[in-house]
Formats: sequence, structure tokens, C-alpha cells
Amino acid sequence: MRILLVEDNDLLAQGICLSLGKLGMQVDHLSTYQQAVNAVHNETFSAIVLDLGLPDGNGVDLLKHWRQQGLSIPTIVLTANTDFDTKLDCLDMGADDYLSKPFDIRELAARIRAIVRRQHGRDNNVLNVGALDINLSTREVLFRGLSVALSRREYQLLHELAQSCGRVLTRQQLEQLTYGWEEVGSNSIEVHIHHLRKKTANELIKTVRGIGYTLMEIE
Ligand code: CA
Repeated sequence: MRILLVEDNDLLAQGICLSLGKLGMQVDHLSTYQQAVNAVHNETFSAIVLDLGLPDGNGVDLLKHWRQQGLSIPTIVLTANTDFDTKLDCLDMGADDYLSKPFDIRELAARIRAIVRRQHGRDNNVLNVGALDINLSTREVLFRGLSVALSRREYQLLHELAQSCGRVLTRQQLEQLTYGWEEVGSNSIEVHIHHLRKKTANELIKTVRGIGYTLMEIE
């Protein structure tokens, strides 16, 4: 799960990146309105955490801009004020949720999981595809009823593929969703896929030649 955090308070942002990272999320951080416009235009994110007071603009306008462009990436607004009207404005502009500062990071994580889950039409935190069960709260993975121990990247990769079951994800999309702006080796995705297949079943992840990978529903 790749999160874009748009927040100009660096200290707060570092804390959020670190904490959500420990919970298995890939967080990429930007501080300005314009950087966020460019990033969302060009890249793939699972959700956005958006501060309202940015140095070069207002988060509400940013949200409005994205929704007018037809971008439906689930978004949580972080609001420092207790201004009720601002919260209503955000929800009316297409925010999926809001959280008032200060907040507990576990609540932010749970709310992110909830809006991403809703986006994918699921009503609980267990992602089930055939013989595969992924518990998104505990990050426990079961395959054919047996627990599978995965590295952080393997987990992220499997989660993205399972969430998009039936669709092909390109290597570039998978790199973005699991590494964000961190450096990624040229064959890292292939290596992780190889390990995932060994830990589950070869036929679970199908290579679509020249395009990418897709997760198969198998029993
Ligand atoms: Ca701010």
C-alpha cells in the first residue's frame, strides 16, 4: 500500500512516515501543493493523506482539483483546526475521511486501511482470493490454511497483486506501489515474485509476457 503524505510540517511528516512504514505501508512525503499535483498526475498511489495548510496553497483546493480531474484516490484530510465548516467542506469536496491533529498514528493507519478497503469494495480487513487470505490489520498471510512468512516487500507485493486480482499490474506499477521513491534494483520485482511463488505456489502469480504480473485465483 503506497501512501502519499502531503504535509509541510517536516517533523510531523517524519513521524508519520516512520510509524506507517513500521505498519507495512510505503509512505512517500511531499511538502507543497505543486509537488503533490505533479506526483499524483504521474504516479500510482493507494491513498493520500493531505494536510490543509500548505505553503503554496490550500489542501481543500488540491482535493477539489483532483476530483474535478476525475481522480478518485481515497483521501484523508488532516486538519489542525476544530473548524466544523472546514471538515464539512472537505467531505463535500470528495475527501473520504478526516482526522483532527493531534491524532494517534494507529487511528490514521486504521482509517487509511478503511478507505482503501472501501475503494476496493470490501467490508472487512481480510483479503481473500481463492486459497490466499491476507489479514490487512495483522499482516498475517495464509495460503491453503498455512501461515506464510514474508518479508516486508514480499508482503507489499502480494497485497497489491491480490487487491488487483484479475488485472495485470505492470512492473513499473508494482515498483511504485512497493518502493515509492526508494531506490529499486532492476530485477528486484522479479526476485520477490520468485520468492513469493516458492513460498506459495508457482501458479499463484502469472507472468504476462511483456506486460507484467497477475494474481490467479487458485485453490
Ligand atoms: Ca500545514
